[in-house]
Amino acid sequence: MTDNSKLLEPGFLDALERYSRQLPIIGVKGQERLAKSSVAVVGCGGVGTLVAELLARAGVGRLVLIDHDVVALDNLNRGTILSEEDVGRPKAVVCAERIRRINSQVDVEARRERLGEENVDRLLGDVDLIIGATDSIASRMLINKYAVEHRKPWIYVAAEDLRGMTMAVVPGKTACLRCVIPKPPDREERGTPILGPVAALASAHAALLAIKLLVGREVPSAVYIIDAVSNTIEEVRVERNSQCPVCGRL
Ligand SMILES: [Zn+2]
Repeated sequence: MTDNSKLLEPGFLDALERYSRQLPIIGVKGQERLAKSSVAVVGCGGVGTLVAELLARAGVGRLVLIDHDVVALDNLNRGTILSEEDVGRPKAVVCAERIRRINSQVDVEARRERLGEENVDRLLGDVDLIIGATDSIASRMLINKYAVEHRKPWIYVAAEDLRGMTMAVVPGKTACLRCVIPKPPDREERGTPILGPVAALASAHAALLAIKLLVGREVPSAVYIIDAVSNTIEEVRVERNSQCPVCGRL
């Protein structure tokens, strides 16, 4: 297909205008790569909803939003696309509705399910990249194992108290989550203290890492610590562990 023929495609001129502020940065090729990309967001709480929103605004072609839970009143101190009227409604469904209003060109699917061994392949099998924004270390480790086995990049993102953490895992290139956390703690992160802007900082950084990977840029093997006390984002380089039970044999 030539560049001229693209001008005749429905929606092409609208897309040029919609993305005109980011095209100088990622280029038409980068924009096309985003449009062809499919991303799963696991966990549609305060962090996942904002990552999904930013990816939809950037023009990611397909989003699969996965969360079994319903919106609670205590989600509203962050979760920038959630409203009072959403309390009690399924998070994945609410998030999908909002995203369709933000960018109707995005193909959005809501999955009201809890990610587990039994459904991981069905839920994540056909996406190009996974955002792990759940509040459970067990499901993050499940995403990590699945992503490494299937050579899919994924983004770890977490926010708690006054600190956020992100990491891009690119199987075969970067360290994986298990390299960084060899002995995962047996605790849930549900109900931990969190300030809205800290969740937003971590979400924005996770979306940035995702966009970089989707448009074909390299990201380092690193954990990013977003510290709202010292007002810093620290890049901590991490090595792959050749003894890692998850990625050591890649
Ligand atoms: Zn590893």
